[in-house]
Amino acid sequence: MALSESLPVRGPQPRILIVRLSALGDIVFATALLGNLRTRFPGAHIAWLAQQDFAGVIDGDPRLDELITIPRETLTSPAALLRLRRQLTERRFDWVIDSQGLLKSRILARLAGGATRIGFESKEPGAVFMHHLLPKGGAEDAIAAEYRELAQRITGVVADPPRLMITPAMRDRIAVAMAGYGLKPGFIALCPFTTRPQKHWVADYWAPLAKTLADAGHGPFVIFGGPANRDDAERILAQLPAPSFNLAGKTRLPELGAWLAQAGLVIGVDTGLTHIGIAVRRPTLALFGSTRPYLLGAESPLTVLYEDLPCAPCRRNPTCGGDWTCMRRLTPQRVATAARQLLTRECAA
Ligand code: SF4
Repeated sequence: MALSESLPVRGPQPRILIVRLSALGDIVFATALLGNLRTRFPGAHIAWLAQQDFAGVIDGDPRLDELITIPRETLTSPAALLRLRRQLTERRFDWVIDSQGLLKSRILARLAGGATRIGFESKEPGAVFMHHLLPKGGAEDAIAAEYRELAQRITGVVADPPRLMITPAMRDRIAVAMAGYGLKPGFIALCPFTTRPQKHWVADYWAPLAKTLADAGHGPFVIFGGPANRDDAERILAQLPAPSFNLAGKTRLPELGAWLAQAGLVIGVDTGLTHIGIAVRRPTLALFGSTRPYLLGAESPLTVLYEDLPCAPCRRNPTCGGDWTCMRRLTPQRVATAARQLLTRECAA
């Protein structure tokens, strides 16, 4: 039986709060939960609590009634937490779903005061704040598996893969921005940046990859990233065949989905932008090394390249002394071959 069938609801429709504060890729993946809740409860009031620095990626999502954002500092300010508590409790949520499973997200779920609080089982403290703890389930190599499994346990409905919705207004806005750069739909988006060095592809590999693709008639190339990636993106850009563009730090979070939705192919490392490519259903080539790759369950054409080394996935504890063998073995030629296969499939579709 679906958990929701046994949960009390005070009004005619459930009032639901999703707590997923960060990070970019996880918020993108947690849209599988949002989509599933909206499908099962079309008349529900659904709100999402997220940190300001990540929330933009779901800003304007028509499946959401409300996006409640907090600055990171809220978590360390008793006065701000009290204000947030007032703000959340007056909304009288029936169900608060913590899809993060950390102490901080459990505390915020408790502050929200929902009649029923549901979350993940985890080793984190704060389990006492939750009424129902569900195991992180789903196939290990399926995309967004834990969020889809959580959704299905709550609603009883099989959850689709994550999806970001693009509003017509945002599509129009990006069309204008693209025209400003002389770009047309079908460019190749490069997403080289992430937080940990062991997740980066070799910086000098991007140029030979782009050259191989350009020689085959593909391009132009557009680099995406955050403000902190601008200089690194400029260094990659300097080696790319013309025309290529560096948009790192020049796009706002709410625009990213609409930008990548115009790409003919997204090539990226294990980072939020690559997940966005999948969530806007564009052909995506993901380069994995130190983290466990997802291989199943995407609705868009997806190729994941990774080396199944004995040391992988090392996650946050690499043992290769900075050699990053797993990523170096994904040579530009291998990546170009996979990219051309995806592009050919896209052209034939
Ligand atoms: S330890 Fe292995 S999996 Fe981890 S970064 Fe190094 S080569 Fe890659």
